[in-house]
Amino acid sequence: MSRFFSNKFDKLEPYVPGEQPKDVKYIKLNTNESPFAPSSAVIRAAELEASRLQLYSDPDVQDICDAIAGLYGVSPDEVLPSNGSDETLNFAFMAFCDKNNPICFPDISYGFYPVFAEFNNIPYEEIPLKEDFSIDYRDYCGKGKNIVIANPNAPTGMALPLWQIEEIIKSNPDNIVIIDEAYVDFGAQSAVGLIKKYDNLIVIQTFSKSRSMAGARLGYAVACKDIINDLNTVRFSTNPYNVNRMTIACGAAAISDNDYYMSNCKTIAETREYTKKALEDMNFEVLPSKANFLFARSRNIGGKLLYEKLKQNGILIRHFEKERIKDYNRITIGTKEQMETFLDTVKKILEDNI
Ligand code: PMP
Repeated sequence: MSRFFSNKFDKLEPYVPGEQPKDVKYIKLNTNESPFAPSSAVIRAAELEASRLQLYSDPDVQDICDAIAGLYGVSPDEVLPSNGSDETLNFAFMAFCDKNNPICFPDISYGFYPVFAEFNNIPYEEIPLKEDFSIDYRDYCGKGKNIVIANPNAPTGMALPLWQIEEIIKSNPDNIVIIDEAYVDFGAQSAVGLIKKYDNLIVIQTFSKSRSMAGARLGYAVACKDIINDLNTVRFSTNPYNVNRMTIACGAAAISDNDYYMSNCKTIAETREYTKKALEDMNFEVLPSKANFLFARSRNIGGKLLYEKLKQNGILIRHFEKERIKDYNRITIGTKEQMETFLDTVKKILEDNI
């Protein structure tokens, strides 16, 4: 740290992204990317748009707002486009939270939430998950604080039914409730339909997982018009060209190919259930997941050791050091072939370990 770094960041511990190795070619099951390539329309859109990169992008990101609005039956001014959904999350923390408007979230959830809170100097409360790693929605009802919940949650993959999400929103009318739906397309129920009913709801989604565009960085929020206006005030005060030209073109093309992506999600959900069963047959405890990953613990080998052995065998999964979950690993669902290789390798590791 230089001697010039502001002491407002004294307690800030930056978010640590999953490994993106540049040396060895791994089977990457560690950052919840899609194993499927973008559709051909997206690739064509990128090529075409590359020739126009001397021009700034559209600060209104109108094509994306229109496409999302069409997809969910909302109005384009109920959509805020962003550079990945991480940016929307940060905008929402900036816009609606401060010393007098704290935020709460589950103790085991997306690791960026406490970082955004620290970064913006916002007091936060971490509410413990239940023994079985589920969220007790009653812990959030009438909470009187802003709330962010990932649904499905990460890294557990477990989802709350929509009626419980609605209870949380309804019972906190004077606070913002952010539902982070990064993984919703793999089997959970979306709260997008509720934005017409509740002016305190922000639903956040991303093109990174179900739409195979993690590298393009495209996310968005859906909320009532007034909330979107506030988020746009923050956006235009920080980075008005936050979504680049190629990403706008690719995102619009991806929405026009929605069937392709939804069919990929179905395949991933099927492969997830296949992998879950196979892991259970090898004496793993596997949480019920509605996401494109599994959270699993072997009863025969520690989480860290399994992660290390898999890495030696060319397979990356995600291990977290946090005490309560250190025996678990998060395994992204790849193609069926990748998961067969993963399962075979786990089997060999377990045999060698006995
Ligand atoms: N929310 C959750 C729960 C996530 O796991 C992620 C991915 N790391 C994000 C949001 C952010 O994704 P992106 O910025 O790629 O849209």
